[in-house]
Amino acid sequence: FSTGTQYDIVIIGGGPGGYVAAIKAGQLGLKTACIEKRGSLGGTCLNVGCIPSKALLNISQKYYDASKHYKDLGIDVEGVKINWAQAQNKKAETVTGLTRGIESLFKKNKVEYFVGTGKLNDKNTISIDLKNGTNQVINSKNIIIATGSEPTPFPGLQFDEKVIISSTGALSLPQIPKKLIVIGAGVIGLEMGSVYQRLGTQVTVIEYADQICPFLDTDVAKAFQQSLKKQGLEILTGHKVVSGQNLGTHGSVVVEPVKGGEAKTFEADHILVATGRRPYFDGLNAKEIGIEFDNKNRIVTNSHLQTSIPNIYAIGDVIAGPMLAHKGEEEGIAAVEYIAGKGGHVNYDAIPNVIYTHPEVAWVGKTEQELKAANIKYNKGSFPMLANSRAKANNDYDGLIKVLTEKDTDKILGVHIMNAQAGELIGEATLAVEYGAAAEDLGRTCHAHPTISEALKEACMAAYDKPIHF
Ligand code: FAD
Repeated sequence: FSTGTQYDIVIIGGGPGGYVAAIKAGQLGLKTACIEKRGSLGGTCLNVGCIPSKALLNISQKYYDASKHYKDLGIDVEGVKINWAQAQNKKAETVTGLTRGIESLFKKNKVEYFVGTGKLNDKNTISIDLKNGTNQVINSKNIIIATGSEPTPFPGLQFDEKVIISSTGALSLPQIPKKLIVIGAGVIGLEMGSVYQRLGTQVTVIEYADQICPFLDTDVAKAFQQSLKKQGLEILTGHKVVSGQNLGTHGSVVVEPVKGGEAKTFEADHILVATGRRPYFDGLNAKEIGIEFDNKNRIVTNSHLQTSIPNIYAIGDVIAGPMLAHKGEEEGIAAVEYIAGKGGHVNYDAIPNVIYTHPEVAWVGKTEQELKAANIKYNKGSFPMLANSRAKANNDYDGLIKVLTEKDTDKILGVHIMNAQAGELIGEATLAVEYGAAAEDLGRTCHAHPTISEALKEACMAAYDKPIHF
């Protein structure tokens, strides 16, 4: 049956794209509902993605520092041990606190929250299989699809989340494994690989491409790979997994060099498949009601985030673009603002990316190889972290900052950062890109001393002139 309520916006999916859209719609006074089947808000990001992974990265880094680095700083700590059950509790507590926080934001902004699975009946009607076993049909002038993504399985290695695991399984292993194989040296593979390597697991990462994170600026990728190897991650680039087996208590993979050569077999307690994620829309009925998909099975949208059915919008991981929480959030706000008659817009040239390893790697804009391929004339400035006084004082000076600018105008086209605080520092660089700043604008802006941000200023100075400290 139908409730008879007519909503202005109904959002299917309560991840960072969907829940942010819902809050924005509530703030703009639109009658709004959000449908989420998971039973808790926040989507992949809060439940099994960004937040639990960062909680474990933080815990494992603290453990690693206490066991490996404190002595050098003159801090003697005896018998440092990891209590894995407590670490898992802490991670769960963080997740629960944040997901409940979104529920209260929904109440504050008068967003109705349906716990259930939404299915599109037609362009204005959604049928909800509620978690309590009943069904409800609701009507809306506008619909936003924000159903996110799921891990892409590896051919021949079916996820059981015990031996063959996705990131979801990797976040909740019952104990710290002795050996872990990671297929794919992308963001998720390196973050989760780092967590366990710091806790004592022997981690082997297998990557098809010739460099880790093939999307990174090559200079940064090289420095990053060296740094991870120094920490103890075994990384095999230019290698492919040709087959694998779940042996019940552990798993094995056969690996071959991409260019040909001898195959090797690796065994481990778990095999983490981290080769990517794919859009998720099971049971949504989107194709059936005529919504257009592209050849990568993503929903096609125009610049206003409208699908081929104009009152149905799509945002986040289910459409093209980087699969990032903040990208989905920007799209959620833009779609709602457009529906409300305002000028919603996303600048895809100014979306920051961060890898939360140690050191962190962050970037915005173009890589040097992209500028070369596009035949754009550029200048570059680079500054090593070991010449930054705060990094030295912190005893944490692995990395560099590289700034790429347009040759004739000095406009910043790309910033690539590898250092312990790269994820925070990329905010300044993103603001510069968003406002079309020149390297000289940053180079002539006074930065506090001693801070890591001075390295960004000096990398900018290096792009149009000379840095002072290197
Ligand atoms: P999702 O977060 O996937 O949310 C979609 C929601 O829709 C889900 O909760 C799902 O249950 C629900 N849903 C699906 N179908 C239906 C239906 N029919 N009815 C009702 N509900 C439905 N990104 C970052 O920016 N920074 C990071 O540090 C980061 N770390 C990550 C770490 C890991 C391990 C992983 C896996 C991902 C990480 N990401 C990170 C990516 C980030 O989580 C995603 O880009 C983001 O969650 C996408 O948001 P979304 O709203 O599009 O979809």
